[in-house]
Amino acid sequence: MTNNFLPIAFLQNTFIPFDQANISIATHALHYGTAAFGGLRGKIDPQNSSQALLFRLDKHAERLSQSGMFLGYDVSASFIQQTIIDFVERNKPVDDFYIRPLVYTSDLGITPRLHDVEKDFLIYGLYFGSYFADKGLRVCFSSWQRQSDSSMPLRGKVSGAYITSALAKTEAYARGYDEAIFLNASGKVSEASAMNLFIVKNGVLITPDANQDILEGITRRSIIEIADNLGIKVVQRVVDKTELITADEFFLCGTGAKLVKVSAVEQYKLSDTTPIFEKLVDEINSITNGQRSDYADWITHVPI
Ligand code: PMP
Repeated sequence: MTNNFLPIAFLQNTFIPFDQANISIATHALHYGTAAFGGLRGKIDPQNSSQALLFRLDKHAERLSQSGMFLGYDVSASFIQQTIIDFVERNKPVDDFYIRPLVYTSDLGITPRLHDVEKDFLIYGLYFGSYFADKGLRVCFSSWQRQSDSSMPLRGKVSGAYITSALAKTEAYARGYDEAIFLNASGKVSEASAMNLFIVKNGVLITPDANQDILEGITRRSIIEIADNLGIKVVQRVVDKTELITADEFFLCGTGAKLVKVSAVEQYKLSDTTPIFEKLVDEINSITNGQRSDYADWITHVPI
């Protein structure tokens, strides 16, 4: 896989060239998944190419700080936020990009534990356009179950948890699908391999509630707020498997994928007519492009 990385990275409290930002093969986190990451998108302001726009930086910084707490690493949201701003300023990106901050156990050595182990905070970035092509996705139900919050802190983006996402995604590909949907231990709908989900039924927007072992995505939360502002009724509740198959509209959302509609669930085709999905895409595009004064506090402007 080739990636187009941004030239400057942040490692061990220093900005250095990405090519020199290397860590040891003995790094604790690599062996035990004792890390937690974030992921946020930035774009060049279409109105002013000398500034970058970051979407909901404060929420991403808060979530990473909270994830750090699960690792026993005290890194404040304000430090994360300021370091990300400095990172963007130094990199001077020229196209849409994605920022990947990570907190991790940086010690060299063995024994899975979180006490008496050094930790670090790093950032790198890459140019990143669309994750999926614009066509609707074909999804299947995963044979892997979404982990439960009693076995790992699902309110953090803990790296070790992503083995299940990777298994589900690769299984879906092997079966000829684009994406996998997880049910939780109660057999109720949770989320996709690394995205939240929404359905529309009779004009109502429905999404699994926060107790369905979901990661409470920042895109999910943003869509709920946008829909509320548009006067679309939103319900967060338990969702059954067959509700996905009989939905009027069905879409996935996350920072990487943005909003992407589902065209089929297993062998069942869904309608091509998706007016609420399209309305929400238009709204979120105008917001991330910095064209909406009513959502100005969702966007951080960084001079580049
Ligand atoms: N669920 C999981 C497991 C994820 O990894 C992601 C991506 N961060 C999401 C949902 C969507 O979250 P967000 O909208 O904050 O990117």
